[in-house]
Amino acid sequence: MLRQSLTAKLCERDRGELHVHMNGAIPLSIIQNILADESTELPPDFLIERDLVRYTPCQSLASYLTPWQVLRLFPKKRENLDRLTLAVVASLAENNVRFVELRSSVLYLASLQNSSPTQALERLIESSRAAADQFGMRLGLILTVTRGDYSSVALSTLLQAYQNLGEPEDVVGLDLAGDEEIAYPSELPSLYRKAKDRFGLGITIHAGETGRVDNVRAAVKLFGADRIGHGTAASKDPYLLDLLARRDICIEVCPISNRLTGAVPDDEEHPLLEFRRHQVPFVICSDNPAIHQRGLTDDDAAAMTEGLSASDIYQQFEVAKRFSFIEGLD
Ligand SMILES: [Zn+2]
Repeated sequence: MLRQSLTAKLCERDRGELHVHMNGAIPLSIIQNILADESTELPPDFLIERDLVRYTPCQSLASYLTPWQVLRLFPKKRENLDRLTLAVVASLAENNVRFVELRSSVLYLASLQNSSPTQALERLIESSRAAADQFGMRLGLILTVTRGDYSSVALSTLLQAYQNLGEPEDVVGLDLAGDEEIAYPSELPSLYRKAKDRFGLGITIHAGETGRVDNVRAAVKLFGADRIGHGTAASKDPYLLDLLARRDICIEVCPISNRLTGAVPDDEEHPLLEFRRHQVPFVICSDNPAIHQRGLTDDDAAAMTEGLSASDIYQQFEVAKRFSFIEGLD
């Protein structure tokens, strides 16, 4: 009885979501509607039912990323951006999410919508404001830059768009994502630090998801990261764990995603227990819930399967608030 009510209460708990990609959070039915509406041609041999969802551990990160072959083909129409944003926020609301930091690649959106980066960012802000208002949710946007040769140019373009719009409060942070084996221009970390100092934006870096512990160290020491996306590789380095704990840097732990991508192999314990042992702060997040066909509630359950207690989970709302880049959460 006690256990049952605890589980029920756990499902109902208020949540904050700090690591979710907008295009990984769009319900399948909405994607199908938009693809049909925009007459989008799928890549050869791409089967929606098979290739747009990920239920079981993938052979490689590349295989996990197959859905993005299609996810980067829409929305071409303004109204479909509104539709998908509303659907994303609705599914977060179903998981009792009270505040969310939504990650998005504005430059993809600009090229799809044939608009300037400034216009694309403005549209994204308008869509997300309308959706958040409808569900009474606080929403901040994180601008994602992809690792590669053009990362610095992309970041500068995004920051210019942000300035053109008068540095709107809706934008709360910057992210770096993509293949961790790919090099980036040497000046990139300093550009992140400058943006942090100048605009007060939070910095979160996808690092240590594919086994590269060096990337976690670089995120902390060079990029000035406030939070680390995934960071699973850090668990193998006690000195790095101590550094994260000392600097109070929060790891965004995505338990379902970590098993599906292979960031945490089947036969290994999830590093969140190691984070807890070293007093490294962490927050449970969902990464790409629609691709997993699950939600943040399921990530809570997965984190408990990995060894967290119910009281660890209860504390998560406060931890998410403390590390959120959104100002003035009560
Ligand atoms: Zn991510």
